[in-house]
Amino acid sequence: MKYIDEFRNSQTALRLVADIKKHSGDKRWRLMEFCGSHTVAIFKFGIRQLLEDRIEMLSGPGCPVCVTSVRDLDKSIALAKMPNVIITTFGDLLRVPSSDSSLQQARADGGDVRVVYSTLDALDIAKNNPAKQVVFIGIGFETTAPTIAASIIQAKQEKIDNYSVISLHKVTPPVTWALLDSGETDIDGIICPGHVSTIIGSDAWRYLPEKYGIACAVSGFEPLDILYCIDLLVKQLEKGKPKVDIAYPRAVSPQGNVHALKLMDEVFELAPADWRGIGIVPGSGLKINEQYAAFDVENRIVIPLDKESKEAKGCICGDILRGVRTPFDCKLFGKGCTPEYPVGPCMVSSEGTCAAYYHYGGADDKTR
Ligand code: SF4
Repeated sequence: MKYIDEFRNSQTALRLVADIKKHSGDKRWRLMEFCGSHTVAIFKFGIRQLLEDRIEMLSGPGCPVCVTSVRDLDKSIALAKMPNVIITTFGDLLRVPSSDSSLQQARADGGDVRVVYSTLDALDIAKNNPAKQVVFIGIGFETTAPTIAASIIQAKQEKIDNYSVISLHKVTPPVTWALLDSGETDIDGIICPGHVSTIIGSDAWRYLPEKYGIACAVSGFEPLDILYCIDLLVKQLEKGKPKVDIAYPRAVSPQGNVHALKLMDEVFELAPADWRGIGIVPGSGLKINEQYAAFDVENRIVIPLDKESKEAKGCICGDILRGVRTPFDCKLFGKGCTPEYPVGPCMVSSEGTCAAYYHYGGADDKTR
């Protein structure tokens, strides 16, 4: 298939694998893929197994559903249980377990929770239900934040006063710095997220080589994109000169998408954000700013949340998101926790590390 086959050519893949091995010498480098879509692609195309003797691949906190804190999920569920509130959300969030429920359960219990495919759908629901408060659960990274910003601008322009957003958006570079500052995450290089970097630009990652000496390359999502990215990383490490390479030039530039960045700046400001397994990271969240404060659900509805939030017993998603353990270290993996009956978000989300290990990690691995 045109535009796909050229990024899946097996001969080119084998050449890249040989080059990676040649330039690794006798080293085994530790590389983290930040993005959940990369985790899935790495497993799906067998890249981890192909390079196992030279590259140790670790997954990072790049699945937006997985890093949403239990407290923030509890808040969303409390909102869903309120009368005259319609919750709109992307489908991935529906089955994620919170302290003692999920949005899916809240819907089964009578809450009005609707899955939408874009914020435009949510705005339409608001227009068609003027007597109700329509709340969009805004999760995601810099990739989705511009579209949510656009919906808030549109709501203001069209005076759609019953639309608001719970902004759980997160920005990616600060959490990477926080992981490295913790000293717990020990890596040589990062496969930087392709979609996010399309928006923020590859220059946003320059701090990593400059301050931490970490090799960086932005990758696309096809197997040859990822192998090419790893090849660039290994060559940086071989030379001992870490920098930021772009292995996804058909989508990513050093400066990013200035129009999308402008939209985000118009509506949001940086704020602390609560990351599952990591905690509060300063400047890693996007709060709706003063100019659009009326569209921040927290300024419109008092959310009844009186109980302590708690993680699912036995779930180690937090450690997995910090890159310090893998799903094989979880006693529930493939036994008490499966995609059909997930205990934690990393098994629910299509981008979750546990789901990727479960689907593509190999049958034997499931019961290790
Ligand atoms: Fe959590 Fe399930 Fe993953 Fe274990 S296998 S860390 S319980 S999501």
